[in-house]
Amino acid sequence: PRQFFVGGNFKMNPNSVAEKIALTTLLNKAELDDSVVVAPPALYLIPLKEILRKEIQVAAQNCYFKDSGAFTGEISPAQLKDAGIPYVILGHSERRTLFHETSEIVAQKTKAALAGSLSVILCIGETLEQRETDQTAQVCAAQLQAVVDLLSEADWSKIVIAYEPVWAIGTGKVASAAQAQATHADIRAFLGTAVSPAVAQATRIIYGGSVNKGNCKELSTQPDVDGFLVGGASLKPEFVDIINATR
Ligand code: 13P
Repeated sequence: PRQFFVGGNFKMNPNSVAEKIALTTLLNKAELDDSVVVAPPALYLIPLKEILRKEIQVAAQNCYFKDSGAFTGEISPAQLKDAGIPYVILGHSERRTLFHETSEIVAQKTKAALAGSLSVILCIGETLEQRETDQTAQVCAAQLQAVVDLLSEADWSKIVIAYEPVWAIGTGKVASAAQAQATHADIRAFLGTAVSPAVAQATRIIYGGSVNKGNCKELSTQPDVDGFLVGGASLKPEFVDIINATR
């Protein structure tokens, strides 16, 4: 069985040290059932890691694909590793859209992160137009194929796939449980043919996009939904309810 996995993507929040401490206190006090990873902005990674209890891990929201050099503004996998940061989120739709990351760049970053001994939360997902023209499975497969091309089968043990339909991110329009299940099943089937049946069985595929305490339970009962990547709600007390969705 795949262990349920819940990530909190804080994006470019919170905006004050006080809010950060409030969130940390909440998480440190909570009873948590699942694997929990939180992704604060890069400059908070180390202080947050130091005050969070050790069961809760931290993730960077991005990294570059080189280990050092003249790449102003970037952080390398080697630097994250050196700082004791175990995870990195790659390929988030905001990075693909606002920062022009192609699937090939995301794949290079994924390869570099794994080579640097990081675990990767790899985000994929379709736009509304792509869903409405029945391209969802194909778009997710193409985004994954770029990564498949650069990795070995063994690399997949350190990847969690986050399916995040672009139309559901930050919109309050969550995918229905049936939509999420169908796409997760398609992604798993793709892994089965493109990588191997064993990787398809073992890889966690988590859902992201307007997850909240009201919709998480039904989503969590779907056989191919192995957790969540939570944006807005990860900054609120209800994040604890989402982490414990399978209770
Ligand atoms: P929201 O939960 O705010 O929709 O964001 C989802 C997301 O992008 C997580 O990475």
